Amino acid sequence: MNRHQPERRKLLKVIAGLAVAGRAVGATEGRDGNRRVLVVGGGLAGLAVLDALVAAGLPVRLLEASSRTGGRILTLRHGLAPGLRAEAGAEQIPQSHYRVRALAAKLNISLVDYPEPRGAFVFRHGHKIIHFHHPSDLPAELTAGLSPAEKAEWPYRLHILYAKNAEPVSVEDPRSALEWLRDLGLTQRGATFVKAFSTVDPESISASAFQRMSQRQVERGKSQIVADGTDRLIRAMAERHRSLISLETKIEKVILRNERVVLVDNTGTTHVADRVVLALPLKPLSTLNFLPHMPQLIAAWRTARRTAFELKVHAQIQAEEPHALGVSQFAMALDFPHMTWVLPEVSPDGQAVLNATVIDKALALVRSRRAHGSQALEQLLRARLPWLQTLRVATLGVDLNADPLIGGAYTYAPAGRPVSSPPVRENLLTLAGSDFSHHPGWMEGALESAERTVQAILAS
Ligand SMILES: Cc1cc2nc3c(=O)[nH]c(=O)nc-3n(C[C@H](O)[C@H](O)[C@H](O)COP(=O)(O)OP(=O)(O)OC[C@H]3O[C@@H](n4cnc5c(N)ncnc54)[C@H](O)[C@@H]3O)c2cc1C
Repeated sequence: MNRHQPERRKLLKVIAGLAVAGRAVGATEGRDGNRRVLVVGGGLAGLAVLDALVAAGLPVRLLEASSRTGGRILTLRHGLAPGLRAEAGAEQIPQSHYRVRALAAKLNISLVDYPEPRGAFVFRHGHKIIHFHHPSDLPAELTAGLSPAEKAEWPYRLHILYAKNAEPVSVEDPRSALEWLRDLGLTQRGATFVKAFSTVDPESISASAFQRMSQRQVERGKSQIVADGTDRLIRAMAERHRSLISLETKIEKVILRNERVVLVDNTGTTHVADRVVLALPLKPLSTLNFLPHMPQLIAAWRTARRTAFELKVHAQIQAEEPHALGVSQFAMALDFPHMTWVLPEVSPDGQAVLNATVIDKALALVRSRRAHGSQALEQLLRARLPWLQTLRVATLGVDLNADPLIGGAYTYAPAGRPVSSPPVRENLLTLAGSDFSHHPGWMEGALESAERTVQAILAS
């Protein structure tokens, strides 16, 4: 018996239903006979694909599930002092991310530097607040057990110390990043620092993926930020193509036929295309109902990648307070918040936004405080950053990880599995999005994937 028989029956029913209901949207061909492309997902990747295909003269539309475009780019302004913003998602643009820089330049959007650190760095160790200028100033109670080379490195860069000079690790290597770093000489105490400061859990990520990520950190140089908010990149792109974007159109079913793809959205409306670009994060992509069955490439990505979580919470402080205290705008600790830093903008009454990040392990603590409201979150932050008397939580932020349309911050190759990437095309489908790029977790990855997708569509 054909194991796809029931799906096939369902598929025929849907197609028959279309003719009756007459709710199919869009012709399958453009007026000039060009093949029609539908892009699903209006994050940076989807918008970049739309923009390039429009420029190439192809008939294309974009379908976005939520009521806004941007996905993991979300700038918060509500609740903050006038002129301030906080980023729930993308923020830093490293020097080496030339695609994002080129996009900002093309859209005439300026980038600004983070404020230069002034004064001593702060390391909170339990209840103790330690000021230091150079890693070698850190007290023995914090650094006891580190090797001399580790003691000379910045606490948040120990992994880079090892990764930058190591022989390339094979994608077949089954070790986790932590096992690999230990084999290279990372001390037990050093491992505490690596676990606190690396953005992906070094016990879960494969050594090879971690090495690639760390090497990119070495290369990435000084970071900048979009003046007045990362969402300006999104708004500028979306405004150019407003009439081609359908918001609140959540694709739920993808019916694969020989020469066409039929997409069914949350209202039951169908959209027919010759080529479909799925510009979605891995999690929501995996929940789509594919008929007659899930394409192999999606199953392969699901096996090859795991999702990592990152959450930023924001507070306001008097911008001059750290300076008045003789400390820098950066602080670190081995527990939450591992890193805090201050954004460049200052409101007319002298306030600035302070970011505190949390990755996988401490997420539960922060989520539970957020669930109890901004006072509970403020209590936690005040207890953890006691030198900042002016700190106030002004917004609870947005937990993009908990949004089913996003489902996490980025993906990584887990230990024990080969890192090499599965393909991104199968018949009429192409995957775009930072999760399927060489820069997962970065806007650069979204643009890299868009570039590759557009090349493939134009070449076909
Ligand atoms: C906390 C956090 C911090 C980050 N920090 C940085 C940083 O400092 N610098 C940096 O460069 N990058 C950063 N990133 C990563 C960056 O935001 C992403 O890599 C990039 O924005 C991803 O773009 P995308 O288009 O691939 O996916 P997304 O932005 O996730 O877009 C996917 C879109 O698909 C839509 N969608 C989902 N399901 C459906 C469906 N069924 N039908 C239709 N539409 C659907 C979603 O609503 C969403 O709009 C950060 C991300 C997070 C979460």
